[in-house]
This record gives sequence, structure tokens and C-alpha cells, in this order.
Amino acid sequence: MSIILEDFGKTPDGEQVSLFTLTNKAGLSAKITNYGGIVISLEVPDKDGRFDDVVLGFDNLEQYFTNVPYFGCIVGRFANRIAGGKFTLDGVEYTLAVNNGPNHLHGGIKGFNKALWDAQPIENDPSAALKLKYLGGDGEEGYPGNLACTIIYRLTDENELKIDYFAQADKPTIINLTDHSYFNLAGHGKGSIFDHRLSINADHFTPSDETLIPTGEIVPVKDTPLDFTTETAIGERIEQIGGYDNNYVLNNSDPKPALAAEVCEINTGRVMQVYTTLPGMQFYTGNFLDSSIKGKEGAIYDKHTGFCLETQHFPDSPNRDNFPSVVLRPGGEYKHTTSYKFTVEK
Ligand code: BGC
Repeated sequence: MSIILEDFGKTPDGEQVSLFTLTNKAGLSAKITNYGGIVISLEVPDKDGRFDDVVLGFDNLEQYFTNVPYFGCIVGRFANRIAGGKFTLDGVEYTLAVNNGPNHLHGGIKGFNKALWDAQPIENDPSAALKLKYLGGDGEEGYPGNLACTIIYRLTDENELKIDYFAQADKPTIINLTDHSYFNLAGHGKGSIFDHRLSINADHFTPSDETLIPTGEIVPVKDTPLDFTTETAIGERIEQIGGYDNNYVLNNSDPKPALAAEVCEINTGRVMQVYTTLPGMQFYTGNFLDSSIKGKEGAIYDKHTGFCLETQHFPDSPNRDNFPSVVLRPGGEYKHTTSYKFTVEK
């Protein structure tokens, strides 16, 4: 188990950026930068013990300054969409950037994915552990209240990449943090994800309009192409809907982390399980990727060559009283966990 620190360049403002390589007992490794908390690479073994990097990303820091697909980053203060970029909290209306059609997406123009986080390896932790801290300012991107966020990445000896999220605010605010890694368990740049077999522990989803804002309904997945209650290849019904970009209402009713999804790539035997304490998960199949995106080691990331399983609160929750609350008040704590656990099937 180790953490190695290297320089990763400078932000557009000239601040020094670091790159940390976390390695566990079995040799799994994750490269994480404190620019946007981005997971740059994640090397995990296949059924024959061969390692591949299973996340999409870029080679250079500069490419992450735009990062239109949000590869690997921490998304905040509010992941996913808010209708019209407006919400009302305690009778006050707040206006956020409209940066995705008519809506607000992923925290705005300069979200947490473009922030430089303070980073500290955690000494004497049983895992390779990295603590990131960022103070979102009162009024930053239009959100109320200072928001002190801490994220801990751990690469455990149980072969999990575990992410703990904590936040506290000094005024009532809203919060929804996620990790936006794109996975391809065959290895990044190894083509389409259609052969991955997926199950999602969700009987319901939140249907949305053409701009991906939920209608407010919570509808069974049964008899729709969104039903992954039993293991199904991602490509099997994808043509019926042109690509998945949907929020699932996870079945977990327990505050403890519960299994949200399991994915298996048959040729390599790699299996990834996602556990979370969060109530929702966006399953997104890289519908907006295209061959102009030049990834790591010259890889071309065409449409449907990576998938995201973004554990989250439901999109547009600040405007929906029937969705679990995303309000954080002074004295309260936002505290969630998501982990990606890697195994193999022979
Ligand atoms: C959203 C997609 C979006 C992608 C990149 C996902 O979380 O659901 O609609 O295109 O992020 O921004």
C-alpha cells in the first residue's frame, strides 16, 4: 500500500497541481489529481491477472481545463440538472448559470470539477487514502452559503475505490455531490460498452422531459428498456432509447451502503460492484462522446465507449418536494459513501 506524489502542472491561474498514485496490496492503482478531484486512471486486473486502465480520461492537465464530458471528476455543488437554473429555498429564489440547454448542469460554469482542492494523504490509514478539501464560497456559481467539503478517496485492500463525502454549510443551501468516472471494463479505448452485462438494484426511475428534467413521477422500470433488475447486456435494448441517461431510484431503504449496480465484462471477466448510501444513480452511456475526443495514450472515445454510474440525489430535487431533500442547514452534515469494488469472474 502506498501513495506517490508528483507534479501535474499548473492551473490557468498558475497554481501548482498534484497527481497522487494510490496503490493497494494487490497492485491495483488509482491516479487522482487535486484539480477537480479527478480520477485520471484506475488499473485493475482481469481474470488472468492482466492489468488495464478501466476509466476514460486525458493524459495532460490542460485537457481537463475544458473536459466537456466531465471525465472522472467530482461534480458539485449540485450534480445533474436544475430546471431553468432556478430554485427557491426558505422563500428566497436563487438563480444559477444556465449551461445545458435551458437548465443548470453539474454545478455551473466553474463547478467543483474545476476547483483546486487541498490534498493530504492520510497517514496510518489501513488503505491508501487521500483527503481532499474545498470551501465553496457563499454566492459561488449562485449557490447560497459557504460549503466546506471533504472528500476521502481510499483504495482498499478489498479492491475497492471508496469515496466518502462530507460537507457542512454556514447558511441553508443545497448539495448533491457525485463522481463522474466513465468506465470501460475491457480497458479505456477498447471500443463499445455494449457487451457489458449490467444489473441495477432499482425497481423505479424518474422519467424526464426532452431536456432531461424529471417530470416528478416515480415510475416502475418493469416492461421498459430501463429494466436492469436482472443482468442484461447494456447494448441489448439501447437502440430502443438511443442511449441511457436516466436516474434510477435505488431500492436501498437503509442508511448503510447498499449494492446499487453490478457490471461484468465477459471477455476480461472484470466485475465492478457499486455500493452507495445515496438514493439515486444516473446511468449514462456516453451518448455525447464522439470520435473527436482524444483520450489517454491516443485513444479515441467514440459514442458509447464508456458508461457512468453516478450515485446521486435525484435531478432537480430542489424543485421537487416529493424527492428526497437536498437541503443542508447550518449544524447539519452531508455525509455519503460510494464505492466501486472490483472482482473477476472466471
Ligand atoms: C448527464 C449527461 C451529460 C453528462 C456530461 C451526465 O451526468 O446525465 O446528460 O451529458 O453528464 O455532462
